[in-house]
Amino acid sequence: MIRRLDSDDTEQADLHGGSSPWFAAAPHPPRPLLADNLTCDALIVGAGITGALAAERLTRQGLDVVIVDREHPGRGSTAASTSMLLWEIDRPLVELAECYGFERAARAYRASLEAVTGLTSLVRDLNLPGDIRTRHSLYLAAGSSAAALLDEHRLRRRAGLPGDFLDHGRLLESYGIARAGAIVSPGAADADPLQLARGLLHLAISRGARLFDAEAAAFDPAGKSVTVGFEDGREIAAKAVVLATGYVMPDIVRSSVQAVSSSWAIATAPQPQNIWKDGALIWENAENYLYARTTPGGRIIIGGEDSSEIIAPDARDRLIPEKSLRLALRLAALWPIAETEIDHRWAGTFDTTSDGLPLIGPVPGANGVYAAYGYGGNGITFSYLAAQLIGGLIAGGTSPLLDDFALDRDGGMAGH
Ligand SMILES: Cc1cc2nc3c(=O)[nH]c(=O)nc-3n(C[C@H](O)[C@H](O)[C@H](O)COP(=O)(O)OP(=O)(O)OC[C@H]3O[C@@H](n4cnc5c(N)ncnc54)[C@H](O)[C@@H]3O)c2cc1C
Repeated sequence: MIRRLDSDDTEQADLHGGSSPWFAAAPHPPRPLLADNLTCDALIVGAGITGALAAERLTRQGLDVVIVDREHPGRGSTAASTSMLLWEIDRPLVELAECYGFERAARAYRASLEAVTGLTSLVRDLNLPGDIRTRHSLYLAAGSSAAALLDEHRLRRRAGLPGDFLDHGRLLESYGIARAGAIVSPGAADADPLQLARGLLHLAISRGARLFDAEAAAFDPAGKSVTVGFEDGREIAAKAVVLATGYVMPDIVRSSVQAVSSSWAIATAPQPQNIWKDGALIWENAENYLYARTTPGGRIIIGGEDSSEIIAPDARDRLIPEKSLRLALRLAALWPIAETEIDHRWAGTFDTTSDGLPLIGPVPGANGVYAAYGYGGNGITFSYLAAQLIGGLIAGGTSPLLDDFALDRDGGMAGH
């Protein structure tokens, strides 16, 4: 049976507006038009950070890989990301454990921690571009009490996760930040997502992967391999197809746990003299949290002000000036010595799931088709995890995480 892959016509330009700091340097990998019908072991649809990580993994395991993107690789959501590589999941462990039980929730957290460790080691071992830096994360109390953070810290310890609780006094003394408390944890990282994605693509190409400018339009999983049809009439027959199309979700992947929202961010002018301790990644114990990081050049990036109501690209982008101003004020409240001269302001589509977990694994009813969709503040951490889990599946392995991240899970957290 032939099925349309994508019934919506969302383009990269709809996914973000304004300009992030990442567009400067990274060279484009060569991307010729698809001129012939092809066969391959694995076809990856989408060449953002998710497709690039999948290409690295699948070429590492010796597969003949083809990657297609209908626009410039990395210039979708990847280019709008603030690229905080957190292992802490958008849903606190306490909430996730209430929903799925302690063991399953702890497994997701541990997998996320291993994913950031794996990603940083990979980038270092392969000497890839992208300025990856290991960082501590600082998870701040958002209100007047740190009781919820203390509970969270206790449960994380029980799960074997690293981190220390800082009360108001210790937080103020160590970081100069005046909040009720925080959890400080090792094992996070930050990076330039566009350079990293392109570095991974160049590496995959050097291992024999082929990258084409082509728009996947339909697929037919009925035969021994999956046949993907393209807008120009060409076809690729692949033993496995990895869907890494970001927030342009094919209908067959849409899930009841997923919701669309928008997020806004700014990057200040460089101010290396004003950076907080170790340039830790900062975020908050709140539903629509503020998030902040620094760059190697000394910029401060701060994002948030999320909305699940303003999602149309025009309306979202019209708010960039107003949201930027608010973010600058919130930066001044968080870190009063920061200068708030803004060099970059932007907005982007930011999908979330009700349980904070990604959608990874076999697409139900489509043999040989795999979904690689990471969401929320852990998008890139989950992209790495998706690449490893799907690589393992194609090699004949399995993992209990595939049940946890299954596309047809009910999420159990509706209303959050
Ligand atoms: C403001 C903002 C802040 C964020 N902050 C963070 C953060 O701090 N940390 C974090 O981990 N994540 C963060 N995220 C999320 C993260 O950016 C995303 O999870 C990640 O970039 C998704 O990458 P991707 O490769 O899956 O998607 P994309 O980069 O959008 O790539 C998908 C590609 O698929 C191509 N494509 C789509 N359909 C087709 C088709 N039919 N045929 C061919 N090609 C197709 C597109 O052209 C595109 O290039 C943030 C996102 C935003 C917007």
